[in-house]
Amino acid sequence: MYTIDKHVIEVDSLESKIKGRSLLKGRGKVSIVTILSIFLILSFTVIVNAEASESIKVLIREKKDESFLEQEKEKSYLVQNSKDWMLMLVNEKSPLPDGYLPKLKKLENGLEFDERAIDYLNEMLADARLQGLSPVVCSAFRTVEYQQKLFDNQIKKQMGNGLSAHQAVVEAKKVVAYPGTSEHNLGLAVDIVSLGYQFLDEKQAATPEIEWLVEHCSEYGFILRYPKDKTEITGVIYEPWHFRYVGKQAAKEIMENGLCLEEYLIRY
Ligand SMILES: [Zn+2]
Repeated sequence: MYTIDKHVIEVDSLESKIKGRSLLKGRGKVSIVTILSIFLILSFTVIVNAEASESIKVLIREKKDESFLEQEKEKSYLVQNSKDWMLMLVNEKSPLPDGYLPKLKKLENGLEFDERAIDYLNEMLADARLQGLSPVVCSAFRTVEYQQKLFDNQIKKQMGNGLSAHQAVVEAKKVVAYPGTSEHNLGLAVDIVSLGYQFLDEKQAATPEIEWLVEHCSEYGFILRYPKDKTEITGVIYEPWHFRYVGKQAAKEIMENGLCLEEYLIRY
């Protein structure tokens, strides 16, 4: 019995050892499965995250592409329009191409204007005179060199008022366009004043000549180029005396809708 018992005990202990091992083995299996699962979940999470961040990147790229395309569209529209000589945009951000020189013709007072538009200007001035008005063209085409002279004189004047060279340039740009960025260099702009009031200030707007011109200029293809409420867009002070030829169709749209040329070129 003892032997048997011992044997039983031995068998028992053997069994328990085996069980224990298999238990251990089982635990080992559980741990491996757990680790593998965690690993798989982590890998999946990493892949999903990577995919998510990739799609975010794609979205950002697409967004960038969209705004880039939008900008390009706008730019090409401006370039496209600038090929149309009547609508050529000239401002501080869009200087004239180097050496731009239109074919010019002389006005009766000797000043020059683009020969393609001079007839419309003469017709407008003649019709104003028929109304008993006395418009005076005091500035038309200017060469870039002459514009440079005007600009330099303005700097000297500002420095004479005690400004530093840098400040003088900043102030001068507010009064005189930087050479190559003036519409007068383009040959399609004129400054017109009343014979009775020959000053380039805001009071010019109240003269009968300017009142008539503002009302009728679009019929001849001209616009008031620098309106009072558009200085933020044009970058130029209110100039009730400065008229620009853009052609009858654009002039009508611009004057009837109270736009400036920059706005018109983006809209149409
Ligand atoms: Zn002008």
